[in-house]
Amino acid sequence: MTAIAVLGSTNMDLVAYVPKAPRLGETVTGSAFRTVPGGKGANQAVAAARSGGEVVMIGAVGADEFGVRLRSALTAAGVETAALRTVEGASGTAHITVDDEGGNSIIVIPGANGGVTGLEAGDAARIGAADLLLLQLELPMEAVLAGASAARAQGVRTVLTPAPARMLPHELLGLVDLLVPNEHEAAALTGFTDPLGAAEALLREVPEVVVTLGAAGVLYAARGQEPLTVPAPRVRAVDTTAAGDTFVGALAVALGEGRPMPQALRWASAAAALSVQRPGAQDSMPTRAETDAFAAAGPLPAAGPHPG
Ligand code: ATP
Repeated sequence: MTAIAVLGSTNMDLVAYVPKAPRLGETVTGSAFRTVPGGKGANQAVAAARSGGEVVMIGAVGADEFGVRLRSALTAAGVETAALRTVEGASGTAHITVDDEGGNSIIVIPGANGGVTGLEAGDAARIGAADLLLLQLELPMEAVLAGASAARAQGVRTVLTPAPARMLPHELLGLVDLLVPNEHEAAALTGFTDPLGAAEALLREVPEVVVTLGAAGVLYAARGQEPLTVPAPRVRAVDTTAAGDTFVGALAVALGEGRPMPQALRWASAAAALSVQRPGAQDSMPTRAETDAFAAAGPLPAAGPHPG
């Protein structure tokens, strides 16, 4: 079984559905409100666990009701939460307004995530026991760097999702084995709006890059290899929330099992394509059996050389 460590965020998503987002000073009446466990770290942990990985989550929740729910959502998915600390104060929250057009605006308040500034006792050993470490950018940079350093020192493969997009220190990129930006993050990191140009620029800093392209699939580039495109299975998407996190969690499990990259990319694309056909974030993530069945039923497009 692939062992995965995730060092990352947990947030309670507070989602208000409104016909139209309010402007400054305006009050609007919405139609519904939901609280949904999220945060990129927790989402990737759940995706990896559902995909069949043995997952430990390192991070923090607040000493509030949200913290209790965030932890139990992870536990229910089979994620080990002994290294998810409960700290004084509020859990991380994401205040999301979704309008009738499906457009959204989001305020993230880091809460407990903001206090994770490094590794605690036992965390380096947890990372060392894993096949891969999954990192994102919703924790303070010091923590991301500490995690990546611990992984590198122990020969553990690091996968970084550079979201939310921000400039990255060279020191961090030097510790990353596989970078998985979406196309907007790839452009923000490099200034190249075409994914291939962005991927090539990123290869100067990291050995392997997967740029996710939504319904268009993914572009994979590695130093010294021809770039590869894996088209996404054609499905009717109803909610793409956490598609990227589902993809990364599944990809990590497949890579940890030693599957070759093109095969791992196809399997992760199948998992993500299943998730976009269901509403929700963690709730929409498929189990390993579901992904296997979908991948076997096909038609899963074959990986091919990137046309550009
Ligand atoms: P999110 O922020 O919603 O989690 P993202 O912006 O990080 O997503 P995307 O590139 O939009 O990432 O999507 C990630 C992966 O999910 C894609 O590479 C693809 O495999 C799958 N995916 C996304 N949208 C679709 C879709 N409409 N049909 C099939 N697969 C999709």
